[in-house]
This record gives sequence, C-alpha cells and structure tokens, in this order.
Amino acid sequence: MSESCDFDCSSCGTDCPSRKAPQENVCGENNGQAGCGEPPVLAPNELSKVKHVIAVMSGKGGVGKSMVTALAAVEMSRAGYNAGILDADITGPSIPRMFGVKGEIRGNAVGAYPLKSDGGIDIMSMNLLLPKQTDPVVWRGPVISGVVRQFWQEIIWEDVDYLFVDMPPGTGDVPLTVFQSLPVDGIIVVTSPQDLVNMIVEKAVKMANMMEIPILGVVENMSYFRCPDCGKEHHIFGESHLAHVVAQYDIPVLGRLPIDHRLAEASDGGEIETVEGHFLDEMAAVLKELDKD
Ligand code: ADP
Repeated sequence: MSESCDFDCSSCGTDCPSRKAPQENVCGENNGQAGCGEPPVLAPNELSKVKHVIAVMSGKGGVGKSMVTALAAVEMSRAGYNAGILDADITGPSIPRMFGVKGEIRGNAVGAYPLKSDGGIDIMSMNLLLPKQTDPVVWRGPVISGVVRQFWQEIIWEDVDYLFVDMPPGTGDVPLTVFQSLPVDGIIVVTSPQDLVNMIVEKAVKMANMMEIPILGVVENMSYFRCPDCGKEHHIFGESHLAHVVAQYDIPVLGRLPIDHRLAEASDGGEIETVEGHFLDEMAAVLKELDKD
C-alpha cells in the first residue's frame, strides 16, 4: 500500500496487496482529457424514482449557488412537484442549514433515506452525516467524488420530480463525476455581476458541450438592490454583463435575484422556505418544459 493510500482503488494505479478493484478509466486521470473512456451513467438506488436531474454550478464560491439551488427547489415544490436536493458541495455543504434540517439519516439494507424539509423537499448532504456540523471534511478528491456517487446510488430518492445537485464551484473532480455518473438533464449556471461572467459562462458551456449536457440558462444573483424607500434599482456590483453573454452563447436568463437581507436572514436562519416572491419563474417554466418531453 502506498503511504498516501486513500483506500479508493478506483483512482489509484498502484498494484498492491490491498487492491480491491481495478482503476477506473476516468477523464483527467489518463490523458487529461474529459471524454476519454467514459464510464457509464450509474443506476440509481433500486427504490429511487427520479424524473429529472438538474445540476447547479458556478465559477467561484460565494456567488449564491446554494441560494439559487434552494430557491429553485422551493419554487418547484410550490408548483406542486416533488423536489430534492443532492448537496454535492461535500467540503462546503450549506443546504441543511438553509432549510433548518437536522437529524439522523436512517437506512436499511437497500439504502438510506434523505431527510425531508418542512415543505417536503428531500435533502441529502454531507453535513447530515457529520458528528458535528462544524467538523471539516478533509478528504482527497477521489474520496469526495465517491461520496457523491454514493449519494446517488445509496440514497433512496423515493419519488422526486426534480433533483437539484448543488455542485462545488468550478469545473473540478466533483462536477466531472456528477456529469459522468448521474443522468443530468441540464445545467443552471449561477453568476453575479462582479463575476468574470464571460469567462465563467464560456467554461461552463465548454464543459457542458464535452459532456453533451444542455445548459438550461443563467441565473444572476445579487443582480441589484431595490431601495426600500424609493423603489429604485441600484447596481451595487456594477452593471450586468448578462445581455452580452446571452447573445454570445444563445442561452436564456432564467432569473435575476436582488441583494436582499431577507434572503440572507432566511437562509442563515434555516427558513428559506418562508421566503416570499417568485424570483425564478422563468427557470420554473423551462424546467416544466422538460417534464413534457
Ligand atoms: P455559494 O453556494 O455560491 O458559495 P451561498 O448560496 O452559500 O453561495 O451564498 C453565500 C452567502 O451569501 C450566504 O450567506 C447567503 O445567505 C448570502 N446570499 C446569497 N445570495 C444572496 C442574496 N441574493 N441576497 C442576500 N444575501 C445572499
């Protein structure tokens, strides 16, 4: 066994006595190219019934990807669909806190059940498995990707119309695992006006093309601040560059969220489901179209 063994034989080429499984021919580990020797999409748990998988990605952390994931699930749930969130942000999970969800994950020989939010949204996150929510997850990439696969295969997503996958920022190991291993129907890209939107969207578009998964559209978070006194919109982080991006890449804008202390308070206080307003109506319309196919 090598000194740096992380017990994940799928990512290790060392031929040692402890080897249990062959090395997977995954992208980036053989020739650095996505698309090489693509492993097949993984079957979900035998008791799962998931209609659509939607990945939510961003170029960097802190732009509000989890906020958009949470509001998207709330919006679809309010529209009468069963929504779920697979929190694939393993080292920075924030979904359970936003929904005020805590408790023990229970399982049986076939798999384990996600926890339900007050509004009935199914949630699975690394934070629900940690002894203390403040415990850090200090694992190497292949182990983290393994957990994401387990959240798909070993969690019983009993009856979910839209399963939103809250990805870690960027285009690293976990997004690659999600795109290769889960039957992702489409990608929502979250940006903010201070982002280098062009570059981020272009990277997302290129990755989506490599993976042959459509980008459903872009949501701009922290887009503006509406003055509570005069009602005027102020562009705190500068003017949006979205119109340009939309024209260049021919992808729709699915929503614009204001900077609003009520959103921050609701998410920090575990009450995201109490937020009023339909910030993501265009997104909901696009997702509903998927259901007609
Ligand atoms: P990410 O998932 O991209 O890292 P989060 O969704 O966790 O980002 O958001 C980062 C922080 O910003 C959180 O504290 C969240 O409550 C706050 N936040 C996100 N979007 C907004 C918004 N539109 N208005 C006010 N606060 C926001």
